[in-house]
Amino acid sequence: NRRIVLAARPRGLPTPQDFRLEEAAVPSPEAGQVLLRTLYLSLDPYMRGLMNEIGPTYAPSVELGGPMAGGTVSRVVASRHPQFRVGDLVLGSAGWQDFALSDGKDLAPLGEMAQPSLALGALGMPAFTAYVGLLDIGRPKPGETVVVAAATGAVGAVVGQIAKLKGARVVGIAGGADKCRHAVAELGFDACLDRHDPQLPQRLAAACPDGIDVYFENVGGAVFDAVLPLLNIGARVPVCGVIAHYNDDTPPPGPNRLPLLMGDAVQKRLLVQGFIVLDHYADRFDAFRRDMSQWIAQGRVKPREDVVDGLENAPEAFIGLLEGRNFGKLVVRVAAA
Ligand code: NDP
Repeated sequence: NRRIVLAARPRGLPTPQDFRLEEAAVPSPEAGQVLLRTLYLSLDPYMRGLMNEIGPTYAPSVELGGPMAGGTVSRVVASRHPQFRVGDLVLGSAGWQDFALSDGKDLAPLGEMAQPSLALGALGMPAFTAYVGLLDIGRPKPGETVVVAAATGAVGAVVGQIAKLKGARVVGIAGGADKCRHAVAELGFDACLDRHDPQLPQRLAAACPDGIDVYFENVGGAVFDAVLPLLNIGARVPVCGVIAHYNDDTPPPGPNRLPLLMGDAVQKRLLVQGFIVLDHYADRFDAFRRDMSQWIAQGRVKPREDVVDGLENAPEAFIGLLEGRNFGKLVVRVAAA
């Protein structure tokens, strides 16, 4: 049983030395437990917060020397639990390891899926984040302009595609020409701009001649600076994440932009609302599953995955996620389905 543990708390961008691959015996389930074999491990930006001593409000931080946490698709390989049988495919939270025990409370049966990894992406948490953030907070109307960065990532690609389904004009921002081409040619965005372009503010202004009505905030940083002056009166800003800052260990350089933001919030009557997807499962997950399954089946939402083979490659892939090296929803194939 291989597992990847937190060897050190990172300063800034994590390094491979912050992780350690360990071997342990495969545990045996006690009464009421199942033994899970990890098939796919999801790698997500929130894991950076779990590596800090003081973690986020919505999840405990990982202990030093403890296994890295994470969402997984697993196969039940032994069961002493009345509701699960050997062979069942389940969505769970086994973390960065080959095998894990569960009492079933964190598990959701998946039935048989042609592409089980989608339960971690286009049919799971990241796409659900896009759905509730965009539809319940952003509320795009036909003809409005929606802007989203990390535009080909797990959340952003779905934000843009749903916004198009709702009749909005969509401008993406992504890292590099390949990703931008994909956003326009495959995902149907109206335009996509490279976040590394020093002319980003001017290019964004040109791509949004009627201003911005919905800015789905995934990244913060220089992208937010470019967006703020373009927000229209009554614009909505679902605040989903600020990945440009997850590795910050000092305040950002330059003048303090907070007065500008708060002044604009008043004058432009902005709705700036943070949300955590975990709060919305009870109310909205069923509607999401129904809509998204249909949109995927109709080819109106096209999932793109970035699949990395081998648990041992998870640390490097995770570091890459924080640097924009992933292209699509990042998952690790830990074992053959
Ligand atoms: P992605 O698949 O989009 O991967 C992360 C991407 O972020 C990278 O590929 C890169 O894309 C972009 N990025 C990295 N560094 C920077 C930077 N300095 N400036 C701008 N962009 C950067 O990840 P997810 O779709 O899983 O997550 C997207 C956002 O959603 C994150 O902020 C995450 O924390 C948040 N989130 C929030 C949830 C909630 O409940 N509120 C739930 C799930 C996710 P590129 O190089 O193309 O710009």
